Amino acid sequence: MKKIVLKNGKEESILRHHPWVFSGAIAHQDPEIQEGDLVEVYSSRNKKLATGHFQIGSISVRILEFGDNTINDNFYENRLLSAFNLRKSLNLIRPDNNCYRLVHGEGDFLPGLVVDIYSNTAVMQAHSPGMHYERMKIAEALVSLSEADIKNVYYKSDTTLPFKANLDPVNDYIVGKYDGSIAIENGLHFNIDWLKGQKTGFFIDQRENRKLLEKFSQGRKVLNMFCYTGGFSVYAMRGGAKKVVSVDSSSKAIELTEANINLNFAEDTRHSAIAEDAFKYLDSIQKDDFDLMILDPPAFAKHRNALKNGLIGYRKLNLKAFEKIKKGGIIFTFSCSQVVTKEMFRLAVFTAASQSGRKVRILHQLTQPADHPVDISHPEGEYLKGLVLYVE
Ligand code: SAH
Repeated sequence: MKKIVLKNGKEESILRHHPWVFSGAIAHQDPEIQEGDLVEVYSSRNKKLATGHFQIGSISVRILEFGDNTINDNFYENRLLSAFNLRKSLNLIRPDNNCYRLVHGEGDFLPGLVVDIYSNTAVMQAHSPGMHYERMKIAEALVSLSEADIKNVYYKSDTTLPFKANLDPVNDYIVGKYDGSIAIENGLHFNIDWLKGQKTGFFIDQRENRKLLEKFSQGRKVLNMFCYTGGFSVYAMRGGAKKVVSVDSSSKAIELTEANINLNFAEDTRHSAIAEDAFKYLDSIQKDDFDLMILDPPAFAKHRNALKNGLIGYRKLNLKAFEKIKKGGIIFTFSCSQVVTKEMFRLAVFTAASQSGRKVRILHQLTQPADHPVDISHPEGEYLKGLVLYVE
């Protein structure tokens, strides 16, 4: 196998099982190495440290196995089975819940791979050229997980693979075909559009937070900002909300939300959906119109150099919500920006609270659910954070 040798002293993070090798740590490498190749990583003293997928960029190797272990023919079967068994033990696979994340990249020791399950269909995303080249092997391993009952694998990597790798991935079924797109989450039905929707079609990562919101919804007037598929709105309806307004700047998202409301609460007049910019909508409402708000915007800081502006964005958004929410109201506020730590996010929200003059208490601190696990050696895997606030 092709070989990469690290600079003296650069093996420390690998010995602690951090799954990335940065380009700056490499002393020299086999000149034949191509992007996506499986490579072995050696220390400067010629000790084998790991095996992983090579790629061009600041992360050069995504590690699949540490130490002397080799990648055998059953590698994907074994890793997928262990990922599946974890989800099963979390009781996520039930007749009233057939939608969950099966593979969360580094969190399932499969860096560069994401797999979401919607009933009998797996939607698979490769984030590394190595996983792209292995896609058929992975798809076959998914179908071979008999208990998971996966019949179709839709491959969707056009936006996740490094653009410069020139892989021209085609989004398509690589196993099976379209056989329905309705998934069930905690007994609620959702139409999942993996063909045209964002990511794999649904934000499974908010499942537990949606469930918590349901408990706060009884008799409340709910504003779901950045609603996308209307996940929070559907739970608020079931929770007994007096009225629910869903807002998203994308008219396609508004259509998805309305379809999901109809799927669960046809002809229920408590819900309405509005295609509008979130900031403009918050400016347009009256103080006291709502006493439960959800703020779940897209990542305001996608990279470290966007951090400062991202934090300003979170502060401004939360400030507008504090200015408008009714006394005794509840705000579910989130950030999915990986580079924003929970301390930074809390500070941005605190600053907004203080600028608004409202008295605010934290009721819950939220994060990503257990089917989005974080490898303790890879803190970069933690991205979702949220606060449930009581506003006096
Ligand atoms: N809360 C959703 C996920 C939100 S994804 C869920 O639980 O599934 C972010 C959404 O914000 C996208 O649908 C996007 O269209 C919308 N969006 C982006 N910028 C916006 C803006 N300025 N105003 C309103 N919506 C916006």
